Amino acid sequence: MSIADNIRHFEQELAGTNCRLVVVTKTHPVEKLQEAYTAGARLFGENKVQELVAKQPELPADIEWHLIGHLQTNKVKYIAPFVHTIQSIDSLKLLQEIDKQAIKNNRVLNGLLQFHIAEEETKFGLSLSEAEEILQSEAFRALRNVQLTGVMGVATNTDDESQLRREFRELRSYFDLLKSRYFADQLAFREISMGMSADYALAIEEGSTLIRVGSAIFGARNYGTH
Ligand SMILES: *Cc1c(COP(=O)(O)O)cnc(C)c1O
Repeated sequence: MSIADNIRHFEQELAGTNCRLVVVTKTHPVEKLQEAYTAGARLFGENKVQELVAKQPELPADIEWHLIGHLQTNKVKYIAPFVHTIQSIDSLKLLQEIDKQAIKNNRVLNGLLQFHIAEEETKFGLSLSEAEEILQSEAFRALRNVQLTGVMGVATNTDDESQLRREFRELRSYFDLLKSRYFADQLAFREISMGMSADYALAIEEGSTLIRVGSAIFGARNYGTH
């Protein structure tokens, strides 16, 4: 199946749901991104700042770019002029830097709090208590140009369906709790970013509003030659 076929397949799968597709374009050349764009995709996700900064000017301006990988504070400035949503916020320090750069660029940047839901130690993300500590702080209340729009998580790399469901439900429960405690009056806080190529169908069933899909659209990534 072509990239366009795959995009259409996801469009059909998501029709009538509350969930949107973020096309994960990391490692793929801009020609392939252009193919996805021509087929109708508008939300693109990259995990590295350098790659995102290189590709963005080569593609149409109405793409909504999401950063989905770990972000160092000293790199926020490179993406602040154009990025739509930073999905991988895992510290107050990072939120403050995003706010600072957003103000400099006279923009509001959207962000998701990334939670650690996987078994693996290596995956980044907050615990619920860490997130609440941030949200209750004076420093958080002082932020002006960063808008939190929801939560994000990466599930364990496993085909154990019950474990995946457990992790997705955990993330959803964090969303529900934060929504009711801190964002009850904010319509913008509405995203639960979960589900990738191998587990997106389960994630949609568990309430995902943003699936992040790469290899099911572009085929396997080749990390060796890019
Ligand atoms: C690479 C990546 C994805 C997409 O993975 P696929 O298995 O190719 O769909 C989703 N989320 C994050 C955070 C990623 O780094």
